[in-house]
Amino acid sequence: MDTMQPIYDVAIIGGGAAGLAAAQALGRSRRRVVVIDAGEPRNAPAEGVHNFLTRDGTPPRELLDLGRAEAEAYGVDFRNALATATHRDGQGFTIELDGGEALVARRIILATGVSDTLPEVAGLEAYWGKNALHCPYCHGWEVRDRDIAVLDSQFAVHQALMFRQLSDRVTVFTTPDREIEPAEREKLDARGIAVVQREVTGVRGNDTHLTHLVFRDGGELAADALVVMPHFAAGTAALAGVGLAAAAHPSGIGTYVVADETGKTEIPGLWAAGNTRDPMAQVMMAAADGLRVGAMVNADLIQEETEEAVASLRAGAPVA
Ligand SMILES: Cc1cc2nc3c(=O)[nH]c(=O)nc-3n(C[C@H](O)[C@H](O)[C@H](O)COP(=O)(O)OP(=O)(O)OC[C@H]3O[C@@H](n4cnc5c(N)ncnc54)[C@H](O)[C@@H]3O)c2cc1C
Repeated sequence: MDTMQPIYDVAIIGGGAAGLAAAQALGRSRRRVVVIDAGEPRNAPAEGVHNFLTRDGTPPRELLDLGRAEAEAYGVDFRNALATATHRDGQGFTIELDGGEALVARRIILATGVSDTLPEVAGLEAYWGKNALHCPYCHGWEVRDRDIAVLDSQFAVHQALMFRQLSDRVTVFTTPDREIEPAEREKLDARGIAVVQREVTGVRGNDTHLTHLVFRDGGELAADALVVMPHFAAGTAALAGVGLAAAAHPSGIGTYVVADETGKTEIPGLWAAGNTRDPMAQVMMAAADGLRVGAMVNADLIQEETEEAVASLRAGAPVA
């Protein structure tokens, strides 16, 4: 291990929208801050970030470069690294990085986001974030009025109804033995959404976009987009050493970190922001959450420092 200096007020693990917004708020509050970032934001496969006011369509990494430059201007340090393990260190934490360095911080903000595990459909990954998609707010406009296929899942009816707002050519593909609950089926029928009981096992397309669904029966069908629902998993591995475990999200969509409204987790000194604690949050929401959590951590440190100063004053020490 390298030396463990300096001691940061806050280490932010994850430099996506949430982590960078927290970093900016804390940097502007004159905190010693380090952001540890592995550089793989969840939306990296997408061409542009949509529904981001004033920067709609900006490539994901470009947006983060802008955010990083702003945080650096306020003295925030960065490490392009993966945080691999964390241990208690007195009142704070030691964080180990994959390059061998270790950092010490009084507080941690976990902003590692989530990872998406795609359904088992051959060839799907190549088109993820292009026209294999999950979120109407991220990519819906781009596939308006097109032939949109929805892959069956527990969220398929919900997704089909959402994408129906964008196109009247939406079809849900299920396995042959699947019975959609009558009340749900009625909603699809009422909105003119077809249900085809033919199992999609693969996709094929060109260099950038999928063009065809491939069925288990060997047949193929042209499609302009395939809507899927990945399984979301919160990035908590680096915090296992201090007792953090991801919990099942109530929606059934995957895992997340349980935190109160300020981002505080049940582990003292550990906070969470962005997709890590709200897997459904869009980029602006993740950034807003990072700002809020950054401010809350600053307030927590101010309280601790004030209590220490009061204790010192009472003990007769000179005012710092
Ligand atoms: C395909 C796709 C397209 C999307 N398009 C849009 C869109 O158009 N508009 C929109 O608003 N939202 C979109 N989203 C949602 C968007 O990705 C999230 O809202 C956003 O990424 C959440 O920000 P975050 O900071 O919480 O996490 P992330 O952006 O995922 O950032 C987390 C960061 O932490 C890093 N990290 C993880 N683990 C570690 C570790 N152990 N050590 C160090 N670093 C670590 C990662 O490498 C990453 O850089 C899309 C999502 C997907 C999947």
